[in-house]
Amino acid sequence: MSNLPSEPEFEQAYKELVSTLEHSTLFEQYPEYKTALKVVSIPERVIQFRVVWESDKGELNVNRGYRVQFNSALGPYKGGLRFHPTVNLSILKFLGFEQIFKNALTGLNIGGGKGGSDFDPKGKSDNEIRKFCVSFMRELSKHIGADTDVPAGDIGVGGREIGYLFGAYKAERNRWEGILTGKGGNWGGSLIRPEATGFGLVYYVNHMIAFTGQGSFKGKTVAISGSGNVAQYAALKAIELGATVVSLSDSKGALIAEEGHSVTPEDIEKIATLKLKRQALTEFSHQGKYKYIDGARPWTHVKVDIALPCATQNEVSKEEAEALVKSGARFIAEGSNMGCTQDAIDIFEAHRREKKDAAIWYAPGKAANAGGVAVSGLEMAQNSARLKWTSEEVDEKLKGIMEAAFKNGLETAKKFVPTKDGEFPSLVAGSNIAGFVKVAAAMH
Ligand code: GLU
Repeated sequence: MSNLPSEPEFEQAYKELVSTLEHSTLFEQYPEYKTALKVVSIPERVIQFRVVWESDKGELNVNRGYRVQFNSALGPYKGGLRFHPTVNLSILKFLGFEQIFKNALTGLNIGGGKGGSDFDPKGKSDNEIRKFCVSFMRELSKHIGADTDVPAGDIGVGGREIGYLFGAYKAERNRWEGILTGKGGNWGGSLIRPEATGFGLVYYVNHMIAFTGQGSFKGKTVAISGSGNVAQYAALKAIELGATVVSLSDSKGALIAEEGHSVTPEDIEKIATLKLKRQALTEFSHQGKYKYIDGARPWTHVKVDIALPCATQNEVSKEEAEALVKSGARFIAEGSNMGCTQDAIDIFEAHRREKKDAAIWYAPGKAANAGGVAVSGLEMAQNSARLKWTSEEVDEKLKGIMEAAFKNGLETAKKFVPTKDGEFPSLVAGSNIAGFVKVAAAMH
């Protein structure tokens, strides 16, 4: 019996990693890494604080603020801030834990962390969000620094919030320092950072498609969930590469393109404007082009080649995974962190082992969505060097990082997980092992 409170999301992320390590030959080859696994499972430091802020009506409100400084073996703690009413320590520990290995897979020297608050930005005015951010940073500023811990955005924290937080840090500490990434382009932000997670996801999946000999995104049908930053730019890049995107979604339901229609860049632009105003997808004028299915996620309502969950954790259940497999989908890659439940991963991995050439191939978020934090790492480098790279330079580097993350997962799987002839290597096992080995070796 443990004397610790239950942390279901963290336990899920931990077990997912451990099960792949244990089903490989890793610990036979490196028995000393068993200790590293025990050590890495406990955050180096957890900071919890209260955030008191005043509403437009002059009422005082209080929320919980957190920063989990999980692992600094490879570099300063790095990872986003999430503002969402569901945020608690279990969720931030799962995100921080994933972030350690994701950041390792970028090949950059960044450690892992995550933070946030149970503050709900929905229904709040800009002024209230600013006041919350200023109050949140008043405490957080004591614990971060360009060489200590560099937060960024996540769900509920975008360019505007990063701006309020950055301004508050400067006022608090009287120093211009690259203490946050995802900053605005004319005050230290990297070009391509807003696009990076979605673009990187599509670059990664393009390598998966090419490896299996099935061409590229061109001519493929794609289901995407979510309608935030990651979903928008994944859709735009998939469309640019010649794919047809047939769905998006938000927390209230799924937007599915009617027969003969698909998501266009113009639709995405309208949706982006709507989201900035913190409005729901139901406000988007469908003009007979889409159906909006209340309370649904796209997976059981589409027939696609590629599925990209880009909303939030556990957004693909066992039943939805079965439906995707049955409908003939061939690639599934997470733009969200822990987008698939363990049951869903088990379905995809079993299919991969049994069906070989006709299999669905699953890529975990810690590899497939690493593009966002990778460009954050590039933003840190530009800030330290007091330089600014062009979009082309950053995009080229992003492409290189995604290719390396794909190949690293692939080659590591081949090395540590015995596969049968014709079977695609397990990207989930390969990515977990590759990320873990890099961190374990550094800690050792
Ligand atoms: N929140 C993003 C992630 O899950 C980005 C983190 C960052 O850029 O630091 O990777």
